[in-house]
Amino acid sequence: MEAILQQINDYRQEIESTELDNTQQLEAYRIRFLGTKGLVKSLMGEMRNVPNERKKEFGQVLNDFKVFAEGRFESARERLESNGAAEITGQDPTLPGDALQAGSRHPLSLVRQRIIAIFQRLGFSVADGPEIEDDWHNFTALNLHENHPARDMQDTFYIHQNPDWLLRTHTSNVQIREMQKGQLPVRIICPGRVYRNETISARAHCFFHQVEGLYIDEHVSFADLKQTLYFFVKEMFGSDIKVRFRPSYFPFTEPSAEMDVTCTICGGSGCNLCKHTGWVEIMGCGMVHPKVLENCGIDSNKYTGYAFGMGVERITQIRYNVNDLRLYSQNDVRFLRQFTGAV
Ligand SMILES: [Zn+2]
Repeated sequence: MEAILQQINDYRQEIESTELDNTQQLEAYRIRFLGTKGLVKSLMGEMRNVPNERKKEFGQVLNDFKVFAEGRFESARERLESNGAAEITGQDPTLPGDALQAGSRHPLSLVRQRIIAIFQRLGFSVADGPEIEDDWHNFTALNLHENHPARDMQDTFYIHQNPDWLLRTHTSNVQIREMQKGQLPVRIICPGRVYRNETISARAHCFFHQVEGLYIDEHVSFADLKQTLYFFVKEMFGSDIKVRFRPSYFPFTEPSAEMDVTCTICGGSGCNLCKHTGWVEIMGCGMVHPKVLENCGIDSNKYTGYAFGMGVERITQIRYNVNDLRLYSQNDVRFLRQFTGAV
């Protein structure tokens, strides 16, 4: 009995000298003294070994000890809580934090959004379509005859399971699908990813991004096409930009043209980007071939239309002077960080 009383006295001194300055110490204290396997509980168990005539005295000592141990715990807990997070976590909230690195939009996304915004102001809406396409929507409907070189396995990815399926080589399949709906007029732009079987280099890649446009209505003329594209390049590159159209050939437009703008890097005096000509080609365009209209069930005597298509990588290259196509898909943050804050 005397030994137990002495033991309780020792515990009291231990409690008084225990430091309770943070949550870890407080928790260790709680487990040692107040937990379900703690000392208070085990001392309670000693009661049965105490002679009957001293049970009351022992009970009193034990209860005092319990109140003392609990009181110490409660006061320490309140003190830590009122001191706030600093003492509880052992951290100093006045230290500067770790800076959050702001992400940036990918340059191709920036340019694609800009292209879309410009054409939306002219009343074009955005249309979408499948990247895995059948031969008819990707080639035949666009007046590419059976032996056209673009159908070559060397240029196009065909789906092994079904040779009629392929990865679209342009977003023109979306134009076909929109025209087939038969709701005229059609005034759409088709942004999207396209695929070509190319060896990856600074100037070629097996996938890239296009934005194509299509306007079909009564009395649409080449003059409408030129005015639309003039507006686009001035909005995209600034009002000083000069434009020229060169006659060209595409199976799906007639007449067809390539559009060049004055080189934005050298201003026309000649540099690597423009191959020292002062001009850079930015897109192909033309009046939609009557046969393409007929393929989609549109009366080519009543309706005419124009179409154009540009590579987003190309516009980005001119706008930001990016000289290697591979940079766009390498995910090198040293490249991508340069577009932080760009709009
Ligand atoms: Zn140049």
